[in-house]
Amino acid sequence: MTTANLNLNKNFDEKDLIRASEVLKAHKIWYIFTHKKSDGDAMGSASALFESGVNLGKSVKWFSPDKTLPEVYKFLPHSNEFIFCEEFIDETVEGLLYVFLDCSNEVRSVSGFDVNKNINALNIDHHEDNSLFGRVNCVDGLASSTCEMLFRIFMADNWEITQNIAESLYTGIFTDTGGFAFSNTSAKTHMAASKLIELGVKPDKISDFINQNKTPQDFLIWARVMSRVKIFGEGNIFAISVIYAKDFEETGAELNGTEGLSSMLMTIRGVKLISTITQYPSGEIRLSIRSREGSPIGAGELARIFGGGGHERAAGATVKFPIEDAVNELEKIILNKYHECVNPD
Ligand code: 5GP
Ligand code: MN
Repeated sequence: MTTANLNLNKNFDEKDLIRASEVLKAHKIWYIFTHKKSDGDAMGSASALFESGVNLGKSVKWFSPDKTLPEVYKFLPHSNEFIFCEEFIDETVEGLLYVFLDCSNEVRSVSGFDVNKNINALNIDHHEDNSLFGRVNCVDGLASSTCEMLFRIFMADNWEITQNIAESLYTGIFTDTGGFAFSNTSAKTHMAASKLIELGVKPDKISDFINQNKTPQDFLIWARVMSRVKIFGEGNIFAISVIYAKDFEETGAELNGTEGLSSMLMTIRGVKLISTITQYPSGEIRLSIRSREGSPIGAGELARIFGGGGHERAAGATVKFPIEDAVNELEKIILNKYHECVNPD
């Protein structure tokens, strides 16, 4: 595995948890930012921090670079209070703290954040390739999720975790670990989940919100993706599939109705690395990549070839190749990389 150049855990110190808590407590205005294409962890962490801020008497705003947030997470407290924001504005207001959640770098969130300006930003994250763009960084590449990080911050400094906060935190932990199934699930993750259940979380309720929430339209798009899957490589270890912009139109599926599809492809026996190529109606083409133990190529490693990033096992990128030939193109790139890995000379 070529993880040697990654930050992994080397930038994290347990003291960072208290430091993050102190920075939060010292500011009376929190502007919370999450990444594009919000997922359960981005939304769960924003929701939990928002609720904590309100309980502490802070003035809190939640900014998202997404125009709309996924229906499936609408049960999270404050998720209807988000403000759509494409461009970062550095406001010079006393007591204002920018908090970035689940963003591996500033580009993953709104545009216009200038790292050279030493902006008063707290960066809480769990991506091992985090660029540490905040003035204060609390980044543990070994944590399952940003929600797990927030849980540890709250516990380290005795913050009150209400049932609402517990449900939000549990949501991010549950989704980023694929329901406690991925290799990022650690003893610490289960300890967090255990405490959150003690605090009132009903696991079946959260699981139903997340897993039993596909619209019939979403289901139709899943069927198309499954019917197009291409399995290849020695031992059939790779699987890729494609979603065209017209699929959204023709099925009526939501833009984020395809979330979870990548994990679905991973259920094919013997498959170690998968990718879905999605052409959004805006024309943007995105790769979603997953890998598991035994894959000759890490998901993050493949994503970085395209200028994207993420974790060793789950990553993504925006690509430029023509959609008509995207499957063949991606297959070629994966096989080339594979041959490079297995025959390094
Ligand atoms: P997904 O496939 O669910 O969109 O993303 C999987 C993981 O990869 C997430 O942790 C996400 O933060 C990360 N990721 C997705 N796209 C990008 C990208 O374009 N750049 C970076 N740095 N990370 C990404
Ligand atoms: Mn996350």
